[in-house]
Amino acid sequence: MPLLQPKCLDDEAKTALLSLANRCHARGWALATSGNFSARIDGESFAITATGRCKGTLAEVDLLTVDLAGNPLSVGRPSAETPLHAQIYRRRPDAGAVAHTHSMPATVLSRALAAEGALVLTGYEMAKALAGVTSHEATIRLPIFPNDQDVHRLAAKIDDSIGDDDRVHGYLLEGHGLYTWGRDIAEASRHLEAIEFLLQCVLHARR
Ligand SMILES: [Zn+2]
Repeated sequence: MPLLQPKCLDDEAKTALLSLANRCHARGWALATSGNFSARIDGESFAITATGRCKGTLAEVDLLTVDLAGNPLSVGRPSAETPLHAQIYRRRPDAGAVAHTHSMPATVLSRALAAEGALVLTGYEMAKALAGVTSHEATIRLPIFPNDQDVHRLAAKIDDSIGDDDRVHGYLLEGHGLYTWGRDIAEASRHLEAIEFLLQCVLHARR
């Protein structure tokens, strides 16, 4: 039974999350209602974009509150991929925001490299945009998981594989897209921009 007045993000966080979604749509990373974005409210709940909405025209009403199991606490249908966001908030207490995009480079590379199980990067200055990375010589590893329409099963598989490993800044879903997160919306946004840039570099280099 949804609460009448669920907890929600403060106004500044709402604006930042909607702005992130809007920018991703403008860049072609979240077209045709794809992608989803969330931010932690507290230790028990987070706000996530509603399912089926254009990410270029989201409004505050499209941010719904769910608990850390992904159950709705407000009226409306949260993203179908809410269990994947919930997995991150449960296992990573420091995670304050999650961004998920369906960009062309993430889609193409996750298919091309699926058999290898990960995209491994080294030698890129841009990697230093990722929390804890201090040198271009660091090795960045983005695990690639097979896509699965059963998102609860997929979330469990990801949980078993990477758990709370703080060396992992994000992962790819095969033929689907990218998940990344950060301490807050600003850091998740920075990680997203950096990883999407790195994916574009790898794609160009392979052509
Ligand atoms: Zn998706």
